[in-house]
Amino acid sequence: MSDLHELTVAALAARLKAREVSAVEVARHFLSRGQAHASLGAYLATDEAVTLTQARAVDAQIAAGTAGVLAGVPIAHKDIFVTRDFASTAGSRMLEGYRSPFDATVVRRLGEAGAVTLGKLNCDEFAMGSSNENSAFHPARNPWDSSRIPGGSSGGSAVAVAARLAPAATGTDTGGSIRQPAAFCGITGIKPTYGRASRYGMIAFASSLDQAGPMAHTAEDCALLLSVMCGPDLDRDSTSLDLPAEDFTRSLDASLDGLRIGVPREFLGEGLSADVRAAVDAALAQYQKLGARLVEISLPRTQLSIPVYYIIAPAEASSNLSRFDGVKFGHRAKQYADLNDMYRKTRAEGFGDEVKRRIMTGTYVLSHGYYDAYYLQAQKIRRMIADDFQQAFAQCDLIAGPVAPSVAWKLGGHGNDPLADYLADIFTLPASLAGLPGMSVPCGTGEAGMPVGLQLIGNYFDEAKLLNAAHRFQQATDWHQRSPQGF
Ligand code: GLN
Repeated sequence: MSDLHELTVAALAARLKAREVSAVEVARHFLSRGQAHASLGAYLATDEAVTLTQARAVDAQIAAGTAGVLAGVPIAHKDIFVTRDFASTAGSRMLEGYRSPFDATVVRRLGEAGAVTLGKLNCDEFAMGSSNENSAFHPARNPWDSSRIPGGSSGGSAVAVAARLAPAATGTDTGGSIRQPAAFCGITGIKPTYGRASRYGMIAFASSLDQAGPMAHTAEDCALLLSVMCGPDLDRDSTSLDLPAEDFTRSLDASLDGLRIGVPREFLGEGLSADVRAAVDAALAQYQKLGARLVEISLPRTQLSIPVYYIIAPAEASSNLSRFDGVKFGHRAKQYADLNDMYRKTRAEGFGDEVKRRIMTGTYVLSHGYYDAYYLQAQKIRRMIADDFQQAFAQCDLIAGPVAPSVAWKLGGHGNDPLADYLADIFTLPASLAGLPGMSVPCGTGEAGMPVGLQLIGNYFDEAKLLNAAHRFQQATDWHQRSPQGF
């Protein structure tokens, strides 16, 4: 059974259900791949005993005929989700070794469906970053070229899937953190409409933007996982949508005949590298072959999404991260003079540079005298960005464009320039600010053979439409089936 890591979630689930392989065998196979490729830095925590205990329990359910749809499918979680059985750090020294007394709702739902947890995946500290280099522990490396970043902040998730250390992983997307690492590592990922997936147990970064989603090889696998992950959680997350759980696989095969795909002219202009442009153009031509019609649209405030996001996200982060004060959980400074000194030292020691930068920016834009000039203005423009999308969706069914302006850059390539990272978020931020569902689909290769992702953005609640468009594309292309050499 040496090919287990080459199977999709759907194929693996079928083999497990037919009892051609046991959950324990599958778990062992992926655990040993994780160990063999530890130098990629994908994992922050694994625990063989815990994983195998879960797998044994699922094997018993399979034998009893009571197993869920993902019975025995191993999955790894971004370390921003809290888990009872593994430490949860959010990639931060502040939470090193922290154990949650409960599982995040998304983790619980996947577990109830029979998924087996392989461990916790590396990420930028508190999900702040675009390269995974902001992890307090170690960077993760792109399996297509280990001298390059895998993207972020769900970098470990993208690496684990791309290197086939796990058939699928969870990620979170606040401003692009599922879509961008999926694009950089040649895998498929979807961020649903804001409110679809419960944020309960997701360590908060920017609460009005944070959203969970799956990362896998195919749109079909993402649809399977997303159907399990989403659903109302009204008692635990006040922004959870009161909509019944949906089967997102229901229309994967629907025809794309007559589908109107909007291409925002602002996504193809200045700043987009030629190699990414070529791959995106080829993907759009493929969609025309599949029966879709391309419509030029405009998202005129695309550029403003950067300053708007980098005001709103830090503002919310500065508030969310105030809970890390050394009192309730996580790190506490060893020596201090008094209470204020304890707070100060704890936070100085526990947080990394980027987190501190965001707390300072956020505190500043929320402070008296600057609130109107920055935070309030940003909120107004955020609403206009959402309105721009609604105007665009009057002319088209879906929107398509690049995920990022370039392929994955070299580790250290942006030096100590946070602005270079921020600017690279330009194409993912608009959908995040509007709360729209978005996905990344492998669509070609660019510079140095690195993967390129096509971004698809849908209107609210149109996840099934996005997954349908991605699935049909994947039936006509093989970009999603390619693996980096040696994996
Ligand atoms: N790169 C963006 C940031 O650093 C997005 C991160 C995310 O989506 N979690 O804020």
